[in-house]
Amino acid sequence: MLIDLHSHSILSDGTLPIDEMVAAADRHGYEAYAVTDHANGDDPHYLDVVTEVRRQVDALRTETSMRLFAGVELTDFEPELIPHVAEEVRRFGAQVVVVHGECPTLDVPPGTNAAAVRCDEVDILAHPGLLSERDADEATVRGVHLEISARQGHCWSNGHVYQTARKAGAFLLVDSDAHEEAGLLSVPKVHALIRGAGASDLSLNQIVNQTAPRLIARLARRYARAY
Ligand SMILES: [Zn+2]
Ligand SMILES: [Zn+2]
Repeated sequence: MLIDLHSHSILSDGTLPIDEMVAAADRHGYEAYAVTDHANGDDPHYLDVVTEVRRQVDALRTETSMRLFAGVELTDFEPELIPHVAEEVRRFGAQVVVVHGECPTLDVPPGTNAAAVRCDEVDILAHPGLLSERDADEATVRGVHLEISARQGHCWSNGHVYQTARKAGAFLLVDSDAHEEAGLLSVPKVHALIRGAGASDLSLNQIVNQTAPRLIARLARRYARAY
């Protein structure tokens, strides 16, 4: 089952319009897919991205058998604003709330990981970099999913994320963070990312066949009226 809840379109820094990303995901054999364009902390109009992604995703639902979700990636907000903004983007239509975590390659406000894993409205902490054990424990308590990233640079700390999350018993998932069609996932890519992060076949099976479908079921229940 191919599930990918983190990707971008031209509404932020992706290269393709949403309809073309959705068609590409369909061709890749996805069962569930979310477009999660950046809402940036320095953009006073960040809610416009959220409403536009939702509008376009809703219009595409009948064109695909995939489970489609409209999402957002909260990017470079001051950590203390994350609880408020996460709640706000939900109200404006975001069905998947991703937080742009403290990856090894970009300047992300310190404390972003800590704020994201303590927020009930956050579904996924993306590319959490050198995630602390304490934050992994909080993610476990809140049910915030921690991401193994397919994105160049972000993926450098996948091994650390896997080990820390596993020790804490936190939920893990694989996302593409695709900004173009070539960045999307395939089954062999997902397996390579999980095994490459240090997981056994048993853990791989758990992430692919239990954790990811359970998250999709949770989102689908929450947004039953959207289908
Ligand atoms: Zn990001
Ligand atoms: Zn992203």
